[in-house]
Amino acid sequence: MGSEGHTLHILFFPFMAQGHMLPTVDIAKLFAAHGVKTTVLTTPGNVPIIQTSIDRAKAQSHHPIQIHTMPFPSVAGLPEGCENASFLPSNDISHLFFEAIGLLREPFSGVLRELRPDCVVTDMFLPWTYDVAAELGIPRIMFNGVSFFSLCVFDSLDRFNPLGNLEGEADSFVIPGLPHKVEMLMSQVPDYLRPESPEAGFFKMVRENDAKSYGVLVNSFYELEPDYTQHYRKVVGRKAWHVGPVALCNEGIAERNTRGSQPSNNGAECLTWLNGKSPSSVVYACFGSLFEFSCAQLREIMLGLEACNHPFIFVIRKGGNECIPEGFEDRVRERGLIIRGWAPQILILNHPAVGGFLTHCGWNSTLEGISAGVPLLAWPMFAEQFFNEKLVVDLLKIGVAVGVKKCTSKLEERELIDAERITGVINQLMDDGEEADNRRKRAKELGEMAQKAVEKDGSSYVDIGNLIHELMERQKIIDRKLIDVSNTSIGVQAA
Ligand code: UDP
Repeated sequence: MGSEGHTLHILFFPFMAQGHMLPTVDIAKLFAAHGVKTTVLTTPGNVPIIQTSIDRAKAQSHHPIQIHTMPFPSVAGLPEGCENASFLPSNDISHLFFEAIGLLREPFSGVLRELRPDCVVTDMFLPWTYDVAAELGIPRIMFNGVSFFSLCVFDSLDRFNPLGNLEGEADSFVIPGLPHKVEMLMSQVPDYLRPESPEAGFFKMVRENDAKSYGVLVNSFYELEPDYTQHYRKVVGRKAWHVGPVALCNEGIAERNTRGSQPSNNGAECLTWLNGKSPSSVVYACFGSLFEFSCAQLREIMLGLEACNHPFIFVIRKGGNECIPEGFEDRVRERGLIIRGWAPQILILNHPAVGGFLTHCGWNSTLEGISAGVPLLAWPMFAEQFFNEKLVVDLLKIGVAVGVKKCTSKLEERELIDAERITGVINQLMDDGEEADNRRKRAKELGEMAQKAVEKDGSSYVDIGNLIHELMERQKIIDRKLIDVSNTSIGVQAA
């Protein structure tokens, strides 16, 4: 989209983890589809994750979209090639990964000086990008990949410190100041949101730089959480645009099959397998791109899936093969499909045979399940995943909780959920009683609303247009000032 000869150029810089890169690339594609010149900035090791998706967007509709790279810094102790959080051999060295990311500040500044974008959209985990952009007079918009509901909870915990009044992890509390009564356990609040945590300093910087930024892009749609969209804008007082569900921009089978990976055979295999199953009969179980489970827990999940008698797809990675119970694959051969490695998630979720999604409640997965109109079985683990569980189970009423009580990214701290409980909650979700039917109906309605939100004149489509318009107007004022300054200096010279 250009006006008076100026084409708006937005640079997107995602944090290097699939849960951040994939939605950011989708957002870049959406802005490119509106005619904005877009650049996705990353490091060479991350290019294979996004290249196919960007090449396809460019080839199909000549979208003005490109990838720009800068080298990944080396840090002692971080294995060569670990340029993405999901490439780390263990979460225990994630501090080294963050250290390397911090060293990107200078190269990022160099890229901005070279490309001179009109605006940058950068991740919450890259708070220093605000200062670098501000030095050059470039507005920074934050993308943090969570829902409006979670943004409002972050604000409430910061503003009212309800945890300060509690005695222990098992205490429950009502999240203060929200439009609805939402109750949770202290143990379900992530460490980084607690004032005494070692990560609190970093997150304070995230919040401060977020508040100074031009605004926030949210991967959500108005109809999903209208009260929280308004609360965030009016009560928290932040400028925000809802642009999602962004994964819906991947419409074709090929796009869905390659999102986040090189083309694989998994997609064809999944489709053939799903085509042979009845509508809404399959449970899809996948826990995102970063999860670690103990072997004992993986076994319980597989035994739970085996005992529930529904067809299922289960995604395993990182040594998961060694944990498969003896004879399991033979016993479930007809009924179960195990995917090793990367699953074509949105291809699977959008197949009519899928009737339930066992998820870790990462926001992308949650929203992808919602967009596909599929009820969710919530097994949150860390970060803001427990807030997503509250939204899905208590507020939207499209999910069942597995009943996890502790928020932790440490494997050894996680409670073991046994096969019997897993079977029980799967059966509750897939049941044909009235309660399960109502859940399915609501999930389907939300899926239809999600689709409408991204179509022409839908709420998210319009909000993308609103932001582009605002940035164009801002740019026009800057261009006009530059012309005035140069006219004045010509006038001075002539005089
Ligand atoms: N994903 C996928 N295949 C996999 C695992 C994950 O396509 O095997 C995608 C998923 O569709 C989602 C993203 O990776 O878009 C994961 O993001 P989420 O926020 O759900 O979880 P995280 O990985 O950040 O914990």
